[in-house]
Amino acid sequence: SSSTTPITATLFPGDGIGPEIAESVKKVFTTAGVPINWEEHYVSTEIDPRTQSFLTWESLESVRRNKVGLKGPMATPIGKGHRSLNLTLRKELNLYANVRPCYSLPGYKTRYDDVNLITIRENTEGEYSGLEHQVVRGVVESLKIITRQASLRVAEYAFHYAKTHGRERVSAIHKANIMQKTDGLFLKCCREVAEKYPEITYEEVVIDNCCMMLVKNPALFDVLVMPNLYGDIISDLCAGLVGGLGLTPSCNIGEDGVALAEAVHGSAPDIAGKNLANPTALLLSGVMMLRHLKLNEQAEQIHKAIINTIAEGKYRTADLGGSSTTTDFTKAICDHL
Ligand code: NAD
Repeated sequence: SSSTTPITATLFPGDGIGPEIAESVKKVFTTAGVPINWEEHYVSTEIDPRTQSFLTWESLESVRRNKVGLKGPMATPIGKGHRSLNLTLRKELNLYANVRPCYSLPGYKTRYDDVNLITIRENTEGEYSGLEHQVVRGVVESLKIITRQASLRVAEYAFHYAKTHGRERVSAIHKANIMQKTDGLFLKCCREVAEKYPEITYEEVVIDNCCMMLVKNPALFDVLVMPNLYGDIISDLCAGLVGGLGLTPSCNIGEDGVALAEAVHGSAPDIAGKNLANPTALLLSGVMMLRHLKLNEQAEQIHKAIINTIAEGKYRTADLGGSSTTTDFTKAICDHL
């Protein structure tokens, strides 16, 4: 369904290689005729007292208003008295689920060639609640918070995602044999939601077994949903299965229908400003954003052009064993459109 009324989306080019790979996205989207107007926002050099962070209130308002955005990597400045950029975005925009598709790219050889799974990570609580303290000297405590509300919300998102993306199975990843109360509640919520989706197969897999299965045969999995820390670890493991940081996209889902897509990697200061960065992860994140906007035709077209460029092997960036610059690789993708 291609629409002709332009959609406004927020773009955070970010730091380091961010502006270079954001330029690549703009170029590819323009060439593909995607009806998007970018509203660009940069990380400020001063702390905004309204957000206690280097992200300004106006930047956050832009995402809230547009409900959709694309984010490059951000390097959190060192020093006291401010919140980390990613934490600010997550809290202020209520980004409760992190979605990472993980699939083998045809033509780019890795250990596996049939990976096609999605990890969905609860993003607001669990072990990341920031509740750590010393009980007495030599004894510290960290609280893992699991709530019915957040568990139902992420489970509902996972099943809805499975249903609307032609997926057949949802696996809840847990350690409820040990964390009986917390992971127990998480599973209970997943089971409740599963009942509303009889067409989707539901299973529960203990996390240690899940790791073993993932490295032995990742094709066993379809959609995985899990609490925060497990999601952090498993999603990086899965990125490693298909070729690493330069290729892996993600999207953060917030309340009120907000979607903020972002590459998984950081600002890569070692190669910044040298026209060497691989823009694939940010481009594929942009493709996720287009799918979220139901611009499926353009999403598919851009996705194919990226895959074909990498598969052809003539233009590849250094991280994929090639010698192309960011701009040459981008031009090759545009030529494939
Ligand atoms: P990094 O991901 O920036 O770099 C790790 C290695 O991967 C480097 O050798 C880098 O050159 C390479 N790499 C990463 N992305 C690449 C790409 N697109 N193309 C080619 N090579 C690529 O991780 P880091 O060095 O640990 O972190 C650097 C900075 O990024 C830190 O300030 C960190 O806080 C920040 N960071 C931000 C995010 C985010 O905004 N989501 C995520 C991770 C790290």
